[in-house]
Amino acid sequence: MAVNVPAETSGRTTAPGEVTLTRKGAARWRGGHPWIFRDDLVPADLPNGEIVAVRGPGGDPLGRAFYGSVSKIALRRLTGPKVSFDAALVRERLDAAIDYRETIAPGVAALRLVSSDADGLPGLIVDRYGEHLVLQALTAGIERLLEPVLDHLTRRLSPASILARHDAGVRRLEGLTEEIRPLRGEPPESVEIEDAGIVFLVDLRAGQKTGLFLDQRENRAAAAGYLRGRLLDAFCYDGGFALHAARRSESVEAVDASESALARATANAARNGITNIATVRANVFDHLSEADRSRRRFDGIVLDPPAFAKSRKDIDAAARAYKEINLRAMRCLTRGGVLVTCSCSYNLHEDEFVEILAAAAADAGRRAVIVEKRSQARDHPVLLGLPESHYLKCLILRVD
Ligand code: SAH
Repeated sequence: MAVNVPAETSGRTTAPGEVTLTRKGAARWRGGHPWIFRDDLVPADLPNGEIVAVRGPGGDPLGRAFYGSVSKIALRRLTGPKVSFDAALVRERLDAAIDYRETIAPGVAALRLVSSDADGLPGLIVDRYGEHLVLQALTAGIERLLEPVLDHLTRRLSPASILARHDAGVRRLEGLTEEIRPLRGEPPESVEIEDAGIVFLVDLRAGQKTGLFLDQRENRAAAAGYLRGRLLDAFCYDGGFALHAARRSESVEAVDASESALARATANAARNGITNIATVRANVFDHLSEADRSRRRFDGIVLDPPAFAKSRKDIDAAARAYKEINLRAMRCLTRGGVLVTCSCSYNLHEDEFVEILAAAAADAGRRAVIVEKRSQARDHPVLLGLPESHYLKCLILRVD
């Protein structure tokens, strides 16, 4: 397969394609944001996914980037002016990403090994589930580097299989096809993995994201440390928070709208010999209203909804939805009860989320304190200069 590596490694002598930024684009680049929109560069006619040299309006070299001819994001920064981007640097970045995870989470079976821009490989997601890897190439640039990436992952990790979960909608925005296909070996339908003493069955092909919500891994363990008594896990998916908290609690009601997610939650509970989780298929908004009306009370509630604010223009409706569920949840808590409340909407910033929670507490007539502020797990690091890479908020509140 033809691989788009820069001239210095492929033996070609032609210079890589070049793009020139406008004054505004150059200011954004120098300010550290790794994404440049099409309006901020001089129109270019280059292949989708090409590695290009980036210049300022005066011709000064700024670095290298992936060029996207389809996406609104035309450039994704790879290096600054002094470093060229070649196959050796791809291997170096993969190694650094994996080394970091081996340091912070040795022996953790399910975790993110490579997290896109934060690991210097824009658009590349590599998640490990035991001996198996699930990969997503979410930019045209990284798609072209797939073979060297796969070769290096195979050499370094000897995975039993690698599956492409290329069914993410963002691939279409990059001019790429959506597909799920084996890249190496024969990926199984499902994999059993253990996380902090709980065994999960992960559906690699049909599970959300790449199988599990790995970004909540550390939050599930942290939340369990606060939760006791009668619990409600709302938007439970396959029972992540519920399973971790169940052994220390009296009972857990686990609510989700998805039948298949609940079936997995039930199977996961049985697999772990946990008998105090009851699953309920319901819309969480209705379920909380009903619980409130019938004066059912819980000692702890987890709210982990999907992103309500997909874009900044949804923000008002999203804010109302976050307020509604948090207000209802606070009303359903016993005095001194614990609320674990999450938002994975990048577009709703943490300070705005805290304001919503304050308004919900005021309307519920409850006094609440934040006992811990958390983010996505450390295998999903936040790149300074890319605020979009800090998306998950997980706040733990005591509600009097
Ligand atoms: N807490 C989970 C992840 C939750 S993902 C974990 O730790 O792994 C969000 C979940 O919300 C999905 O399972 C989805 O099926 C569910 N969902 C979305 N909207 C819902 C609604 N209105 N009512 C109930 N469940 C909903």
